[in-house]
Amino acid sequence: MGRGLWAVLWMFSVAGIHAQQAPASRPGATAQEVMPTPGVDVNPFRQLGPELPTPNTYRTASGAPGHEYWQQRADYDIKVRLDDVARRIDGEERITYFNNSPDMLRYVWLQLDQNQSAKDSDAELIRETRMSDRMTFDQVRKLEPEFDGGFRIGKVADASGKPLTYTVNKTMMRVELPQPLQPGGKFVFDVSWWYPINDRIKYGGRSGYEYFEEDDNCLYTIAQFYPRMVVYSDETGWQHKQFLGAGEFTLNFGNYTVAITLPADHVVASTGELVNAKEVLTAEQRTRLSRAFTSNEPVMIVTEEEARKNEPSRSKAQKTWVFKAENVRDFAWASSRKFLWDAMGVEVGAKRVWAMSYYPKEGNPLWEQYSTKAVAQTLLTYSKHTVDYPYPVAISVHSKWIGMEYPMICFNGGRPEPDGTYTDRTKYGMITVIIHEVGHNFFPMIINSDERQWTWMDEGLNTFCQYLTEKEWDRNYPARRGSARDIREYMAGDKSRMSPIMTNSESIWQFGNNAYGKPATALNILRETVMGRELFDYAFKEYARRWAFRHPSPADFFRTMEDASGVDLDWFWRGWFYTTDHVDIALEQVRWFQAESGDPVIEADFARARDAAKPADISLLRDRTAIPVTRLEADPKLHDFYTTTDPFAVLEMDKAEAASVLAGLEEGDRAMLRDGRNYYECTFRNLGGLVMPLVVELEFSDGTREVRRIPAEIWKMGTPTVTKVFVTERPLTRILLDPYLELADVDMSNNSWPPRPEPSRFELYKEKQRPEGENPMQRARRDGERE
Ligand SMILES: [Zn+2]
Repeated sequence: MGRGLWAVLWMFSVAGIHAQQAPASRPGATAQEVMPTPGVDVNPFRQLGPELPTPNTYRTASGAPGHEYWQQRADYDIKVRLDDVARRIDGEERITYFNNSPDMLRYVWLQLDQNQSAKDSDAELIRETRMSDRMTFDQVRKLEPEFDGGFRIGKVADASGKPLTYTVNKTMMRVELPQPLQPGGKFVFDVSWWYPINDRIKYGGRSGYEYFEEDDNCLYTIAQFYPRMVVYSDETGWQHKQFLGAGEFTLNFGNYTVAITLPADHVVASTGELVNAKEVLTAEQRTRLSRAFTSNEPVMIVTEEEARKNEPSRSKAQKTWVFKAENVRDFAWASSRKFLWDAMGVEVGAKRVWAMSYYPKEGNPLWEQYSTKAVAQTLLTYSKHTVDYPYPVAISVHSKWIGMEYPMICFNGGRPEPDGTYTDRTKYGMITVIIHEVGHNFFPMIINSDERQWTWMDEGLNTFCQYLTEKEWDRNYPARRGSARDIREYMAGDKSRMSPIMTNSESIWQFGNNAYGKPATALNILRETVMGRELFDYAFKEYARRWAFRHPSPADFFRTMEDASGVDLDWFWRGWFYTTDHVDIALEQVRWFQAESGDPVIEADFARARDAAKPADISLLRDRTAIPVTRLEADPKLHDFYTTTDPFAVLEMDKAEAASVLAGLEEGDRAMLRDGRNYYECTFRNLGGLVMPLVVELEFSDGTREVRRIPAEIWKMGTPTVTKVFVTERPLTRILLDPYLELADVDMSNNSWPPRPEPSRFELYKEKQRPEGENPMQRARRDGERE
């Protein structure tokens, strides 16, 4: 998950859950515009060809890693010191870089992500700014950056201490190697640095500190705190996209040992396992921890009372917490005097892992009740759909507003009011963000995609599994992203402010809808409507299994989903991932037929009834009085055979001829004439551009219903309309396209035969009745005080 601002918007928009409106009216595109242009091949069913990279020995055409697949590895031995007064980090690291590639390297690249918050960073320079007639002090201040962050690099030297030549290029640093690094070789070198920590509340950021004025303490959430190896891969070579802020990280796996030195009264949460518990935890805390591991309810390791007592402490002593983490792509940690800490064990596959939460008292009562249990549920649901959670611990740390993920640890918003009340939006916002960020352990921490290139590969897949987890948490969970009905408003919107999902992370319009909501919904549609749960779940799990602890690309995902399910999904990837088309399929025309019975008497009755039921002609009606008597009425001599014979009369000869035709028919054919079946010829028009299966509900006069499902391949010729006949024994009262809102059809007003208006209501009001900003818990309290 993303930037501070984004997270703020995100929390607010949860309010939209209950106010979900019918989709916006039909977008501007007319049927004419989406019709294929003659001579231009726009058939939505053409196979994905040039869009995907050519398979090779590293990545196969089936979407699996090839027999010569390789990836680099970087191990880190890091020592950092947190200065709680100056609020700065000083660090030194030894990096061991393993060249598993078949290539010789003359230099290596490091990422200096902190440089994004330097005053002269590209992220700052490319931020568009504008003036207006009225501006707040804050708005004007933000025109020029105040905070000057960024790494101050000390030494860069080889293992023997010999300085290495290096060049800093914005958020990257090239280190020249004394000798070329051969395939299979490794290079060991040291880097030292310091940087000032950003005030996250004031300046934003994925990490930083929050200052609590009342007790003069900080809560630090520390990440991107060390120079990290850039990924060198078969796909991109060195990943040379600078860190601009939106596109997150591209990272190698490796083993970490991190020693964190800070004031002795701080409590530390971190990636990895604490290896010197005896030196930093009290005996009581260690006892509680061992009890927690076997407990199915969270156990307090640091209670609220203890945390409150610790807040005014100003220990002059220092402690060093040492953590080890194996096979992780990154490392992050958090610390504060304010932390409460609870933990419990969770059975995942064949082993038990830790679920833990760290939060200040300001997070309660919500955090103590929900956080660790949300961590546990996330591990269970995700493990079922991907791979068993492989790490020993998963931690949720409270951090105002943001949601940000790292291996085994994440920082999550959701803070009650100071009076301990909260809205259900705050509560569900908090649980949602915890599920989401803990879920990132799987995408991209384990299934390690390139976030700098493709936001959807981690956010989209993660949001999809988040949706599944929310449903296992609470059947009626107000899930905001994942179901087809919730994406319609976005997809019906202004196309000039929309990007295909396959767009680089920095250039995405409507980040949340594009990279989180739409791909999550697309996967849900594949699962529920296109592939079915059984085929989808197997293929999705296979993708996770193939690419756990590796670096998958979009093609690896697309190919694996088809390869493991036996379903051709090229049309679906093309439409949903490479275009901004939407779904709007109209049930344009319905024609109702019954077979003639072969019995001339029955047919004559039918013809007579139909004639009688014909609407009256307006002139005929008026002439009944305007013309008192016609010539024919006045003069009987004008009659002949045609004016005196019933035009529907059946002759004996007609009956005899019909009987002989019937006698000549096979028994089966004869039965068909008598069964009275109904034939409904339905024409569907593709107005939105995306082809989809047709889900058609047939409703009978007794209210019973039947659903017919037609695969999307009915659109295979690329025509704007398709026609299908549905045969029923009884007549229908209604035909409805997409009865369960599973197709993301943005305009349901053209989905019904006969057409049916959707009722809606508007609010008539005089003035606001409630005090501004009062939440339902506060209102209930006020109600209780009224007596
Ligand atoms: Zn995310």
